[in-house]
Amino acid sequence: KKPVIAIDGYSSTGKSSISKVIADKLGIVHLDTGALYRGITWFALQNCLNDNGSINLEGLFSSLGQIQLEFKNNDGELVLHLNHTDISKEIRSNEVSSNVSLIAKQKEVRDFLLHSQRSLAEKGGIIMDGRDIGTVVLPNADFKFFLTASIDERTKRRYNELLSLGIEAEEEQVKENLIIRDKIDSEREIAPLKQADDAIVIDNTNLTKKETIESILSHIKN
Ligand code: C5P
Repeated sequence: KKPVIAIDGYSSTGKSSISKVIADKLGIVHLDTGALYRGITWFALQNCLNDNGSINLEGLFSSLGQIQLEFKNNDGELVLHLNHTDISKEIRSNEVSSNVSLIAKQKEVRDFLLHSQRSLAEKGGIIMDGRDIGTVVLPNADFKFFLTASIDERTKRRYNELLSLGIEAEEEQVKENLIIRDKIDSEREIAPLKQADDAIVIDNTNLTKKETIESILSHIKN
């Protein structure tokens, strides 16, 4: 049976891009769970706003049944669709990044996503990245990793990622968003961001993407 691998860690530690390469190498599926929380946040910003522009959480909870999130294969790249519309660029916007942790701490939202995440792993052969994969979603995963890196290194990576997507940003603002998200994600009551007791911790501040991938693969092969 092919392995089930959990990758958790702080924002912009490279979890998704690294998981994608590992999935290709091992011939398994990759699920970026952060994209799902971002997708729900994008839906809320479009459909569930109060008059003052804030997100109406009750409105969102009662609309969850209308949300269909799907990854579609576009020339080998998986792109997220919300109700059959490509939202892969929208979910990286500053607006979504600033609101996603508020949405992700809601029990209704986490419950809504939990079942589909778990059922995708039932047959094995998957690498899932997020914040609570090794602790809550897949506590019995065959391999668990927890990635961390310095805040300045992570800021640089996220800033360059946004540039490459053509999204304008200020470095200071990017850094602040990472700090606030990590704080809300770590302090929330349900499924907080934390390393599983049996996770292998990798600080990749001074590692290239390739070196981080090799380090993870060396544990999986052993
Ligand atoms: O991974 P990414 O940075 O895209 O995740 C965006 C946000 O989604 C995180 O800051 C966190 O609030 C939420 N998230 C979560 N649990 C996961 C994955 C992401 O709460 N498993």
